[in-house]
Amino acid sequence: MPLLSNGCGHSGRHRGLTYLSMNEIHSRINSGNYAIHKKYSLLINFDGTEIISLNDFVVLPVSGLRANKTGRRPFVRIRGVKGKKSIHILTYEAWYDDELTEGFSVHHQDFNRTNNRYTNLEKLDADTHKLIHTQIDRGYMSYCG
Ligand SMILES: [Zn+2]
Repeated sequence: MPLLSNGCGHSGRHRGLTYLSMNEIHSRINSGNYAIHKKYSLLINFDGTEIISLNDFVVLPVSGLRANKTGRRPFVRIRGVKGKKSIHILTYEAWYDDELTEGFSVHHQDFNRTNNRYTNLEKLDADTHKLIHTQIDRGYMSYCG
């Protein structure tokens, strides 16, 4: 397991971020409500509402939470990783132990982009995804991404 790296070695709030102790990390893992994203060393709960960096023992702040159809997708930034990472993709990857590759995206089965519960997420190829959104969803919502 990584060492605590928040400077003071304690859990709690520090510089606006929530840091967790080793015990708090372990109890989350043991709860069965979290899966590990191996590539980025993250702990992600079943609906993507809490994403923890196991390198830093810190809860990653979620940005872009606007929930309407034109709103941005919620994302996090991961230290040492370039760009923004979408919550629904990270949640899918962690819970299904799968890595999204070129040409695939993660679809919300109920067409609600704010419902990132892992059972609502599925990997689709681009053609199938487009078909679903044009034929069934009639373009009401933009692609899940
Ligand atoms: Zn979709």
